[in-house]
Amino acid sequence: MRFQAAVLRSYEDPFTIEEVTLGAEPGPGEILVEIAGAGMCRTDLAVRRSAGRSPLPAVLGHEGAGVVVATGGGPGAAPEVGDHVVLSFDSCGHCRSCRAAAPAYCDSFASLNLFGGREEDPPRLADATGKGLAPRWFGQSSFAAYALVQARNAVRVDPALPVELLGPLGCGFLTGAGAVLNTFAAGPGDTLVVLGAGAVGLAAVMAATAAGVRTVAADRRPERLDLAERFGATPLSAGSHGLPERIRRLTDGGAQYVLDTTASAPLINDALRALRPTGTLGLVARLHSRLTLEPGTLDRGRGIRHICEGDAVPGLLIPRLIGLWQAGRFPFDQLIRTYPLADVNEAERDCDAGRVVKPVLLPERRDR
Ligand SMILES: [Zn+2]
Ligand SMILES: [Zn+2]
Repeated sequence: MRFQAAVLRSYEDPFTIEEVTLGAEPGPGEILVEIAGAGMCRTDLAVRRSAGRSPLPAVLGHEGAGVVVATGGGPGAAPEVGDHVVLSFDSCGHCRSCRAAAPAYCDSFASLNLFGGREEDPPRLADATGKGLAPRWFGQSSFAAYALVQARNAVRVDPALPVELLGPLGCGFLTGAGAVLNTFAAGPGDTLVVLGAGAVGLAAVMAATAAGVRTVAADRRPERLDLAERFGATPLSAGSHGLPERIRRLTDGGAQYVLDTTASAPLINDALRALRPTGTLGLVARLHSRLTLEPGTLDRGRGIRHICEGDAVPGLLIPRLIGLWQAGRFPFDQLIRTYPLADVNEAERDCDAGRVVKPVLLPERRDR
């Protein structure tokens, strides 16, 4: 079948909107999903800096959601034609981490999601000239009108929900909310500092507020601090001096948890100095520089850990976040701006410039 997709052909150039061909039917355990909307995540844009490790040309997009239009059969619990689904990251399903319900730490996470995907011979997606495109990105490649995915990466949702907006629950919002609800398991009486009020940081703020956690959000951009405040955090300008002291003042002597979404080594060191004993620093952004620790920073039970995909089992956390949203306690839709898929480059520019928190791309629908 042929359909519209946004193709990234080089690490430097804009996306091109092309007609691509999917040369395979869903196999056992797979489903074909008509994409209603796909969020744009930082990791999509980071492909440009992957120095050749993420193969091109490729259809990116890994926060897709839509309607199942075909299945290849599989276990009884798998989504069926007509089901509405949110797609999440890929995992192998049989390594030690997968068996321990920690699919984000799948032994094959990097290869399946970031650096080449599941092997396809011949390639399933091809361009108009018949030249093969890279295997599906994050098991999805959802910057397209259709995506062929593993049924196990799809989470069924209520068809009454606005499915076109739900895709970011499969990665960005899952990451921020999962760090608070799963990794930190934070609750009333706890204090949390969120560094960086982007999609991940603001999802963390919302989840923390929903969980009764006292939260401080640090960012340099006043408009992002306004958003963080709207969702229940105390805003803190990250640009000025004396950050550790100011955090300690706002958190009764030190934060129990810090979630860094910035990968800024000076900011992370400031936050470490503001952790209370037994406090934990969670890192979700990839560091691009050495993180030097001052002596004593980790004394008294303090810890640092990396958090991937919010430690989530998507099939458990996504329904929980939808439940919180329906109760008015996780208003993620306020972070979204939609763009036609054809405007993918404008969405990227707006994202890079901080003009939008979470772009969601809407493929052109044939029935519209
Ligand atoms: Zn695995
Ligand atoms: Zn992502």
